[in-house]
Amino acid sequence: MFNGRKIIAVCLPKAYERISFRYISALNEYALEKGYTLFVYQTCTALYGNSRNDKGENYIFSLIDYDIIDGIIIFSELLKDKNIADKIAQEAAKHGIPAIAVERPVEGCINAHYDYGDCFEKIVRHIIVDHHLTKVNFIAGIKGNSFSEERLDIYKKVLAEQGIPYDPERVGYGDFWDYPTREVMKKFLADGKELPEAIICSNDVMAITACAMLADKGYSVPEDILISGFDGIEDEEYHNPRLTTCRSGCAEMCRSMIDTFEAVRNGGKIPDEILINFEMVKSQSCGCVKKKPNDSMLMIREMHDRLDGYQQRISDMNDLMSYISTVKKPELIHEGLKDKEMFNNSFCCLNIDALDSEMSADTECEPGEPFTDDMIMVYRGRFNDLYEPSSDTEIFKRKDIIPGFEKYIDMDRPVIFSSLHYLNIPLGYICLNVDINIVAYERIQQISETFGNGFGNVRMYNAMERLYIQDPMTGLYNRRGFYQLVIPEFEKAADEGRKMAAVVSADLDGLKYINDNFGHSEGDNAIKTVAAALVHAAVYGEICARFGGDEFVVAGVLSEETKGYSENFKKRFNDYIDNYNRESDKPYKVAASIGITCRVYDTSAVDELIKISDDLMYEDKAGRKQIRSRPRS
Ligand code: GH3
Ligand code: MG
Repeated sequence: MFNGRKIIAVCLPKAYERISFRYISALNEYALEKGYTLFVYQTCTALYGNSRNDKGENYIFSLIDYDIIDGIIIFSELLKDKNIADKIAQEAAKHGIPAIAVERPVEGCINAHYDYGDCFEKIVRHIIVDHHLTKVNFIAGIKGNSFSEERLDIYKKVLAEQGIPYDPERVGYGDFWDYPTREVMKKFLADGKELPEAIICSNDVMAITACAMLADKGYSVPEDILISGFDGIEDEEYHNPRLTTCRSGCAEMCRSMIDTFEAVRNGGKIPDEILINFEMVKSQSCGCVKKKPNDSMLMIREMHDRLDGYQQRISDMNDLMSYISTVKKPELIHEGLKDKEMFNNSFCCLNIDALDSEMSADTECEPGEPFTDDMIMVYRGRFNDLYEPSSDTEIFKRKDIIPGFEKYIDMDRPVIFSSLHYLNIPLGYICLNVDINIVAYERIQQISETFGNGFGNVRMYNAMERLYIQDPMTGLYNRRGFYQLVIPEFEKAADEGRKMAAVVSADLDGLKYINDNFGHSEGDNAIKTVAAALVHAAVYGEICARFGGDEFVVAGVLSEETKGYSENFKKRFNDYIDNYNRESDKPYKVAASIGITCRVYDTSAVDELIKISDDLMYEDKAGRKQIRSRPRS
């Protein structure tokens, strides 16, 4: 339960695709009646494993909060990554949540599927028995394929029952697709052969091809010959004539699944399976429904409008991509999107470190937990009629899903989640609460891909900028970074007056000796140790930099007069080094000389203070060399 509503988690790919869209619509209709809200976790790819984005897409399933959901539906046939379905099923089982797998069995789930066989038999009987035909050809699928063989057996069975002899010449294998079906049709329509009265096809794709081949030869369906298909694909809806075919009982399946959750809630037994019949659809291709006058102009108009819409959205997305790619701070994202309607009813939530982590595009990364516990909300669109323009970003707990959930979310509409990632680097997620309509659902995909890539660009840009000012070996700033940060800070201090400025200069002692005797990697280790000691000693937010080789400079503006800064800095630095030398079992000791200037900041340039500190450092070095060269008594 969440906000007083029972929750069903729905896992599927591409919410905008016809099949997913139909399921979401049908599920939501019945869910409302039964007091459920759908939380839809959608992926932008079908997770076949052949897209470079698959890993990043499946992160969205780690957002499922098993503590709040009352049931889960995994569209396991549509989501091609079997491991994902298995993982979700295992988590559901661990939490005692009923899980349903649709159309591909998943261990531990109630398996929901359709009974194709029964429906196919209805179609074959309809063509042969109801239409009283005897010269009926058959286009099977792939030879040896179980679905194909099952359908061929049904054809043979009905022929036998009707006392019609089976003639192998009337059968061909169209492999369930267009090209082989053309070969079969050429055989059926060869010169001198009598035209069959009907052709039963094992799927719609082959039936559509058969109709096209007949039209080429000047025959009409169903006037000259009857055709039937099977499986009710989207193309069939645009076909003239509409096919006598079958359609999955999608609504019935959805009702049945929700009823199962209800039954389990009320203490009923978890069933092993849910079996829904395919429904036969008698239509124009067998003559049972009259052909309509050709309304293709209307369809073209509709398509044309949709294409126009696409064009506009591609352009909007490019605009968005350019905008996001230049925004370095999350606070500014809202500004560029606030007037764009396409982002209404949507939240964009980023990992707390999404834009500034150390990163390179790493397609192999496999994080345990892709989303951070604290998330940052960088964009909230207009919600329903609520419009509270805000450029504020908000940090919130991922457990809360989105900030202000109860205020914004309309629980009568599905809440949709989609992953934001950049080449599989997890960045966050979007949450949308839009009306169920196909154009709005198409946007989910476009928004999540554009946000993901846009934020990925920002991250790359930030990483490059960091490289430009960072010393890769020690992680300290390089000389460029030092001046970039220190100069404005010192200038500010000069304006404010009477602030303390501190500059430390450090140089390793005897690095050449370490290099020559133990190798350069040990020399590097000594450099890194001194860098770490400086960071340890710089407790007032000073900027630590490696100027080059074994030379370091640390500088900072101290907000109050810090008594004994130099002594304390040196002590912290030396303690760190001494501790390192004690604990490490290196055959050499790390040591460095340092010089510190700390004084009320006047107008002296940073470089002057560095020069003074350098001189002090060299004095220190000279003293240390004397001690080292003093004969042992
Ligand atoms: P001193 O005690 O007088 O400071 O002498 P030193 O041996 O530390 O040598 P010096 O400071 O005069 O010169 C630094 C040497 O450090 C020169 C160069 O060979 C070596 N060095 C410079 N950069 C690196 C580096 O990135 N890694 C390693 N291992 N050695 C470096
Ligand atoms: Mg040195």
